[in-house]
Amino acid sequence: MANSRFPAAADRGVLQKCLSNSASSPFGRLKRSASSKEEASVPGRVRVAVRLRPRNAEELKADLDFADCVELEPELHRLKLRKNNWDYETFQFDEVLTEHASQKRVYEVVGKPVVESVLQGYNGTIMAYGQTGTGKTYTLGRLDEEDDSNRGIMIRAVEDLLSGISLKDDCVTVSYLQLYMETVQDLLAPEKENIPIVDDPKMRDVLIPGASVVEIRDHKSFSELLKSGEANRAVANTKLNAESSRSHAILVINVRRLVSEAQEKSSPSDQGFLVPTIRRSKLVIVDLAGSERIDKSGVGGSSLDEAKSINLSLTALGKCINAIAEGNSHVPIRDSKLTRLLRDSFGGTARTSLVITIGPSPLHRGETSSTIMFGQRAMKVENMVRLKEEFDYKSLCRRLEREIDKLLVENERHTKAMIGAEDLQRTYEEMAANQNVKHQKELKELSSRLHAVNVDREKLQLQLRDSQIEVQLEKEKLGEEINRRLELEAENKDLNDKVLQLQNEVNEMQRELEQMRSGYQCKADKSHPVQKMTQNSNGQNRSKSTIVKLFEQVGLQNLLALLKSPDEDVQLQALRVIANLAADEAHQVKIMEGGGLSLLLDILRKPKNDSVCGIVAGAIANLAMRELNQVRLVEEGVIELLVIIAHKAQDPQTLRMVAGALANLCGNGEIQEKLRSEGGIKVLLKMGESQYLDVQAQVARALANIAKCESKRALQEYDARSLLIEEEALPWIVEKAKDCAEVVHRHIEMALVHLAQNECNAEVLVNSGAFTELVRISHECMKEDVRSLAYRVVCASPVLQAEFLRFSSTSPGE
Ligand code: ADP
Ligand code: MG
Repeated sequence: MANSRFPAAADRGVLQKCLSNSASSPFGRLKRSASSKEEASVPGRVRVAVRLRPRNAEELKADLDFADCVELEPELHRLKLRKNNWDYETFQFDEVLTEHASQKRVYEVVGKPVVESVLQGYNGTIMAYGQTGTGKTYTLGRLDEEDDSNRGIMIRAVEDLLSGISLKDDCVTVSYLQLYMETVQDLLAPEKENIPIVDDPKMRDVLIPGASVVEIRDHKSFSELLKSGEANRAVANTKLNAESSRSHAILVINVRRLVSEAQEKSSPSDQGFLVPTIRRSKLVIVDLAGSERIDKSGVGGSSLDEAKSINLSLTALGKCINAIAEGNSHVPIRDSKLTRLLRDSFGGTARTSLVITIGPSPLHRGETSSTIMFGQRAMKVENMVRLKEEFDYKSLCRRLEREIDKLLVENERHTKAMIGAEDLQRTYEEMAANQNVKHQKELKELSSRLHAVNVDREKLQLQLRDSQIEVQLEKEKLGEEINRRLELEAENKDLNDKVLQLQNEVNEMQRELEQMRSGYQCKADKSHPVQKMTQNSNGQNRSKSTIVKLFEQVGLQNLLALLKSPDEDVQLQALRVIANLAADEAHQVKIMEGGGLSLLLDILRKPKNDSVCGIVAGAIANLAMRELNQVRLVEEGVIELLVIIAHKAQDPQTLRMVAGALANLCGNGEIQEKLRSEGGIKVLLKMGESQYLDVQAQVARALANIAKCESKRALQEYDARSLLIEEEALPWIVEKAKDCAEVVHRHIEMALVHLAQNECNAEVLVNSGAFTELVRISHECMKEDVRSLAYRVVCASPVLQAEFLRFSSTSPGE
């Protein structure tokens, strides 16, 4: 005896897990075929429950005291079949349901495990087997709209299926058939009377292609469907004159479920290749015809053949179950339409629950026993429960088409974007190239500018270096200059000291000179005025030697430089030294060559005082002694300057020096005309009015020099009257000839003698009274050479001779 039971809820969970694991295991996936996949099979024995119907009214009424033919031990899953009053036969079932078992409990135990299995994708079968009237239809097909608790397995199963699926993705369809005398009738479309069944060897199943298939969306519509099916069954049975208990009612519920992709994804990388999977499962609920023997059931009007035909299917089912239970190699499935329809339920891949229904009455003990034995054999049937899945290529195809459309759209967009991007890229490249060229150009310009700047910078650096060198040189030069200047200043100081010393000596000399002058005021002096000024005493000689020494030590250039000294004293002393040196011919040359004349004339042009003028005039007078200097002096404008000084000067010393200078110049015949034209003779005559004899003597010497030159020319056929006559100097000469100091007189005598040598002057000399003086000179002059010369002159001139004769005749005693 089999000793197993229906799985409890916990066991069912384990089973589900086991099934799920096998379904999703990589091994399971590898085993899938191209279009469908079959999970590894799990052994699933046919579960069998026994249900005892409570005594019905008839039985209660017939024998209130009869003992039931069965005794149930539900907790032990055992059933005892009474052999007699003292003997029982005990059978073990998966579930033993007493007469008190509720419809709900029966569903929970018999139906629900199969329904859940169907929801998971396994085929399932729920079947009721038993004698007519034991409650098969009650157990399976009862509707009872008034009391929900009485509802049977069919309606409860559909209810659970509908709540277990997704109405959006999944689908539940129903076909309701009746099998009677090997004829399949459609209870949902009674006009379909002989529907063929077709074997599907690939799926090892049968198909009923002609049967109506109605989709169920809610349990209410199913309830209506079932009701109409029952009604149709009754009509059909009446038409066929058949008892409903002799036919098999077969409810085929097909469940199509789309496996949730989320549940299926094993790894993210799988996503792109995932093919939607469909699980198709089938729940077959079969309300079998009564299992009682026909003869015993008391059916009338039916032939034996008919009876055989009625029970053919049931008999075949029994044979098949026996064969499977006993492990026979041949199972006569094809013997009947029922066994063909149920080929998957026994020995197939379906999870099968069988409920055998029995009545309590000992009257039917034989039938009950036969039912029990059927159940016992069915318990030995081992099915290989297997999940059937198939890929939903249609939906995959639809999805892929959608994907392709999406990709095409995206591709088009991308292609367009690519073209745009390429255009952009091209534009960018062109721009970049242009920019590059521009940058290169700019770079080139910049580098050439930079080069130019560098060149300029180098130039500037060189210039700077040169400038620095120049500055350095300038600094050095400046330093030298400063040193030189310091040296000069030192020399200057030295010179100043020496000049001061000289000054003292000169002052002393002047004092001595003044003393001498006061002693010789009116005496004639035959020496040169300037020479006289420097030679008149021992002191003067001493002074001269000092000056010469100084000149030799200091040097002419240094002395000339002192003429420009801002210090008036220094300038004055230097002038005195130069004036003294100018008396010497050798020094004259050096002074003239060293630029001394210009310096002296500069001083004379802006004289600071009379004494300065006097000394400068003295120096000029000395320079004018030398014939070679005279023309140069005149060219430098000396005459004009002397004339100006002569007009201004009061100082006798200055007047004497001016007159002396002019007198020296008058000795040069080449410049006499210039002397006259620049007013030199006139100014001499003006100075001649001076009270000082020294001045008068110089004027007289000047006039004598002129006359002397003219007389020389007269000897070379000079036939013009004298300048002295032209300039009206004759009256002053005649006057001084009559009475004056010897220092003047001797020059006057010379002038008259020389004037007389020119015949052109003779008449004027006679008329002016000069002749008389001339005669006197020829008689009385102390100097014999002058006296004899006068005599010869008078004798030589016809005019003077004639006058002399007349004079002699008119002067008695001569
Ligand atoms: P069968 O379909 O096996 O011929 P039925 O289901 O038609 O039997 O049942 C026969 C009668 O017994 C019916 O009136 C039914 O209501 C009643 N019956 C069957 N089983 C039970 C039960 N468990 N409790 C109450 N009444 C039952
Ligand atoms: Mg029935």
